Amino acid sequence: MKNLQVQIDAHSGFCFGVVYAIEMAEDILDEAGVLYCLGDIVHNDEEVNRLKRKGLKIIDHEVLKDLRDEKVLIRAHGEPPSTYQLAIENNLELIDASCPVVLKLQHRIKNSFDKGDSIYIYGKHAHAEVIGLLGQTNNKAVVFQDISELDLDTLPNNITLYSQTTKSTDKFYEINEILKNAGITVNTNDTICRQVSNRDRELRDFAGKFDHIVFVSGTKSSNGKVLFNVCKETNPNTYFVSNSAQIETSWFGENDRVGICGATSTPMWLMEQVKERILTF
Ligand code: SF4
Repeated sequence: MKNLQVQIDAHSGFCFGVVYAIEMAEDILDEAGVLYCLGDIVHNDEEVNRLKRKGLKIIDHEVLKDLRDEKVLIRAHGEPPSTYQLAIENNLELIDASCPVVLKLQHRIKNSFDKGDSIYIYGKHAHAEVIGLLGQTNNKAVVFQDISELDLDTLPNNITLYSQTTKSTDKFYEINEILKNAGITVNTNDTICRQVSNRDRELRDFAGKFDHIVFVSGTKSSNGKVLFNVCKETNPNTYFVSNSAQIETSWFGENDRVGICGATSTPMWLMEQVKERILTF
């Protein structure tokens, strides 16, 4: 035995938006035994599989087009107006678990669009939240995930900048500086969720206290990638795993201190499993 000291980060685990969506789904599943959900309810396969076993059926927009007279959950990422329109046409009852933070951002973008602003969104192409945001502008806003995608010489003189809620705060402000230095007037809206940006700061503190960090997240989580990099920058001995089977005993030496943390989409029960496994080394 390696006599490892293992601690889970108390601030890791689901953010309130994900807790809200999963509680809503579980209430209905406990009563009805079945519920459709548009897209993965959370970017974590282990948690999605747990809910599928309770009767959750994950569908995509193609399947939604042919679905009639059913209950469909909208997950925390939110949806564009076209989905709400389709639900009316197909007599679908939407259980709207869009995160309040995302809904507020949708409204802000819609207001900017209605005022005629040139809207730029720092976000991941084709990400569900970004599709919902773009929908507020009839898909007219410009989405970019790297500043190199923008031709600064041909940008309007005056733009309104937003961010997907789970992007890196540092990168957002770097982009903001580059745009301003290029002589563009930027109406800057830092719309990064505080659940993400606060966790960024907390994780820097946490990651510095251990010999090794095991970061637990689904591979599809944007927020997972950002927060993993935050840990890795602070502590180079940081490993990314999606489940307890991926941990290797060779990572750790005798008497090492190991910290476990995760994304806003990582369930606490999964981090507990990871801890249990590490304690067997
Ligand atoms: S990260 Fe923030 S915006 Fe996204 S679901 Fe969680 S609370 Fe909502």
